[in-house]
Amino acid sequence: MDLNTIEAWVPTADPDEWRQGDAWLAGGTVLYSYGSQTLRRLLDLTTAGWEPVTQDDGGITLASTCTVARVWELGDPASATAARWPGLAVVRPCCDAFVASFKIWNLSTVGGNIATSLPAGPMTSLAAGLDGVATLWGPHGGLRELPVAELVTGDGANALAPGELIRSIRLPAHALEARTAFRRLSLSNLGRSGVLLIGRRDRDGGFVLTVTASTKRPVQLRFPAGALPDAPGLAAAIDAAIPAALYHDDIHGHPAWRRDMTYRLAEELRRELLDVPGPGSQEGA
Ligand SMILES: Cc1cc2nc3c(=O)[nH]c(=O)nc-3n(C[C@H](O)[C@H](O)[C@H](O)COP(=O)(O)OP(=O)(O)OC[C@H]3O[C@@H](n4cnc5c(N)ncnc54)[C@H](O)[C@@H]3O)c2cc1C
Repeated sequence: MDLNTIEAWVPTADPDEWRQGDAWLAGGTVLYSYGSQTLRRLLDLTTAGWEPVTQDDGGITLASTCTVARVWELGDPASATAARWPGLAVVRPCCDAFVASFKIWNLSTVGGNIATSLPAGPMTSLAAGLDGVATLWGPHGGLRELPVAELVTGDGANALAPGELIRSIRLPAHALEARTAFRRLSLSNLGRSGVLLIGRRDRDGGFVLTVTASTKRPVQLRFPAGALPDAPGLAAAIDAAIPAALYHDDIHGHPAWRRDMTYRLAEELRRELLDVPGPGSQEGA
């Protein structure tokens, strides 16, 4: 794709350099494939040289420029990192949900995926599911933090202000230490996600369910250890959190199907993570 309105490529990650008609450039897999009639300059974040992955006792930080290929490495189940942080078990399924070639995986970035803000954004699912918090840089020294589950606000919509960029995503230890489980459905074998749910059982006993892809934006349900839901309770919580209009409607899935599958997969995650015996036995017995 020729972006023939582009007049300049600028190697910078300084929001003070941003002006109307600019776009932050990361992997370019959206910018170069969707095209634009209005962009004048590309501000190339990949020249910033940010360390893609860093970790300490408090968790893992992904630079926004960390590629999906690098995230996949982080999810290696044989690694010492995976042994330390069992919550990373959902990393590889999330990367696999990004049904694209190795070329795309090696270019597209965590920040670019979240900023694109598609309901089926697998890095949005991953980061939201692990309570990821984005650090945002804005013009005039602007600095703020926002949970990824709140950063993405709709289909292709987010809370980024003009000129603001995602610097990094912090995955906190409490989520990385959790037991996690993943469910995803697509209408076709290599299709985009129609429903993607991540469940977490935190070490404090709480249960967290993150719904993505079936909804226009991430939806999180939190149940503390003392108030874990039974099946009707979980269904009622979904009823309350996801009105009909919030289910996404596009070629990758009808809203009624996405809704039904959300309830079904949520119940599967509840049973798995709350160690509920299988169908046919008495719950909690
Ligand atoms: C074959 C194929 C399959 C795909 N499948 C999926 C899919 O299943 N799900 C999905 O979500 N996407 C999919 N995509 C779209 C796209 O590849 C991804 O969304 C990708 O993660 C975008 O990342 P990027 O680094 O290439 O972004 P870029 O193209 O560089 O940027 C995308 C947008 O984000 C902005 N941006 C980039 N980085 C930042 C930042 N740090 N802060 C603020 N704004 C920023 C840019 O200005 C631009 O508006 C697919 C694309 C292809 C070609």
